[in-house]
Amino acid sequence: MNLERLWTPWRAEYVAGDTNADPNAGCFLCDGPRVGNDAASLILKRGSHAYLMLNKYPYSTGHMMAVPFNHGGDLASLATEIGDELWALAQAAVRALTDEYRPEGFNIGMNVGTPGGAGAPDHLHVHVVPRWAGDTNFMPIIAGAKVLPETLEQTYTRMLPRMGAAGAL
Ligand SMILES: [Zn+2]
Repeated sequence: MNLERLWTPWRAEYVAGDTNADPNAGCFLCDGPRVGNDAASLILKRGSHAYLMLNKYPYSTGHMMAVPFNHGGDLASLATEIGDELWALAQAAVRALTDEYRPEGFNIGMNVGTPGGAGAPDHLHVHVVPRWAGDTNFMPIIAGAKVLPETLEQTYTRMLPRMGAAGAL
């Protein structure tokens, strides 16, 4: 599996903000938690420093991202307590997804910086992608769109009740 291909859809979504205004303007990873409607933002769990959301352009059903609340793209300077919570959220995602969807594997990781394949290089995020044997065959990429067996809203509705038992933060 080519990881760049795996996460490339994020590139098309990211639109840089007006750098003369709010430096975080246009950052969907900043905006999501501020909307005040976690269902609309597809946010499944909030911690003290980070949150867990469904990826709006999932590679596979249940594709989630653990994201710090604070804007920043430098992993080297990320505070330990934030990194710890990102990992705890990724683990919670794995537990909840395993309970609900029984995936056969996962891709978990970060694309850091644009050359690293990050679609939102200025805001760190950890991808959690459930995988099934043969999933690249039954969810082909056709004209940039992927065919998924259920909608994001259906996935959200299935996953939300699982999050409480998936681990406290
Ligand atoms: Zn941001």
